[in-house]
Amino acid sequence: MTTVEATYPGSFIAGAQHRNAGDELQVVNPADGRAFASIAAASAADVDTAVQAAAEAQRAWSELAVSKRGEILGRAAHRVEEHLDELIPLLTREQGKTLRDSRIELTKAIDTLMHYVGLSKSLRGAHTPNLDPGVEGYVLRRPLGVVGAIVPWNFPTTLLCNKLAPALVAGNAVVAKPAATTPLTTLRFAELLTEGGLPEGVFNVVTGNGSVAGEALVTHPLVRKIAFTGSTPVGERIMALCASGVKRVTLELGGSDPMIICDDADLAAAASAASMGRFYNCGQACLAIKRVYVFESVAEEVIESVVAKTKRLKVGRGDAEGTQMGPMHTNAQRSEVAGQVSRSVSAGGELLAGGSAPDDADLIDGFFYEPTVVIDPPHDSPMAIEEVFGPALPIWRVADLDEAIAHANASQFGLGSSVWTRDLARAREAANRIEAGYTWINSRTKVYDELPFGGWKSSGYGKEHGEEAFDYYTETKSVVLGAS
Ligand code: NAD
Repeated sequence: MTTVEATYPGSFIAGAQHRNAGDELQVVNPADGRAFASIAAASAADVDTAVQAAAEAQRAWSELAVSKRGEILGRAAHRVEEHLDELIPLLTREQGKTLRDSRIELTKAIDTLMHYVGLSKSLRGAHTPNLDPGVEGYVLRRPLGVVGAIVPWNFPTTLLCNKLAPALVAGNAVVAKPAATTPLTTLRFAELLTEGGLPEGVFNVVTGNGSVAGEALVTHPLVRKIAFTGSTPVGERIMALCASGVKRVTLELGGSDPMIICDDADLAAAASAASMGRFYNCGQACLAIKRVYVFESVAEEVIESVVAKTKRLKVGRGDAEGTQMGPMHTNAQRSEVAGQVSRSVSAGGELLAGGSAPDDADLIDGFFYEPTVVIDPPHDSPMAIEEVFGPALPIWRVADLDEAIAHANASQFGLGSSVWTRDLARAREAANRIEAGYTWINSRTKVYDELPFGGWKSSGYGKEHGEEAFDYYTETKSVVLGAS
């Protein structure tokens, strides 16, 4: 039996730690492959306890003024902010990312909470006078009730807050399920929000596997909506389960974002954006540059620049000084990416950087993989058609914008995309024709809370961010007020 430093009872329900009835799961540090904590998984009965607590708390929460809910959430978020220095190393330890990336993630999570706190003061609705003489209409908005938020391990806190913030401001209560491998930051986050004044039961966390805790949450009759971020196959399963009872569902799923670099682009800036967009968070991001299409005439310059940047990246433990790229999250994830790279190279791609695990003695036990660049793998190879969820970038030479857009759209995914050109007509054409939920033009691939975001095709359903997010956490009702 492995000895761990800490054992956790499991869930956080109605403002307190709750001992789960399920098996003990281990939390492993991806930098050295060692389990440092164990945590009991939630059974279906534990999930039921959490959902009942949420349903109970939701009634009083929904009766508060919207601005009051915002005010309470804002104070609670401030409490989390005061504990950033405690949360950052915890996130790095369970997820693997660099301390810098953990700070960026947690700061962004708090920003998202505050964005919706701000919106809580400005929400307005629709009113139509004189539908008929003396008759007017207006549209009521009501919260859904209990929302289940299911989150993956790559950005445990931002992906949670994308759901939590609009859900709570709209008057719902939330039961969240983090990934089985990253429960600890989320649990502490929930505790801090409660200490900061969020009423007990309004936000609960159940931990455990998708097949037990996740499905118990999705199928619970009191859960009115599932907000899911994760892989496309699991999203499809969740959507099918939500058919029973016609539950609301939003799905933020996999992606394989194309980046098009035209011959008139600022090539240095584009190469930097490609490197940053592919290798941040060790390539484990949904919105990440996963395919580059560069015009032939400038391809050599771009490839040389991207390869040089890739080789300079300092790989190391997330908590070590100067590390630019940490380990991958699990060994299984690393094996999957290594397989996609080796099959794409065997099929004809040219490996110009990386392609294996680093052999430094101090990294050998962790789940490290070198940042990798592959040139011109066949367009039906794994790196072209599958989602590569790790630090490996394929680059293709293309003749022109038409060819680039055709390849960009020849994917089951439609999450993000970017185009680099100084020609406004080309930029417009790309923005109009690329099938994706985001197109960045001459910009790094940053997500803004102000803009609605959601995938097209197999990348998802529904929107997060923006005021639009409220549409997915409320029901509307048309009311007609007669003349007498
Ligand atoms: P995953 O789908 O395996 O798991 C995501 C979450 O779903 C976890 O909490 C897991 O426990 C839970 N889950 C698994 N099976 C379930 C089931 N049957 N019922 C209910 N819950 C279940 O995804 P992952 O491997 O953890 O994450 C990586 C994937 O997430 C990638 O495909 C990535 O592109 C995607 N992602 C998408 C976005 C986006 O905004 N579109 C953001 C980040 C990650």
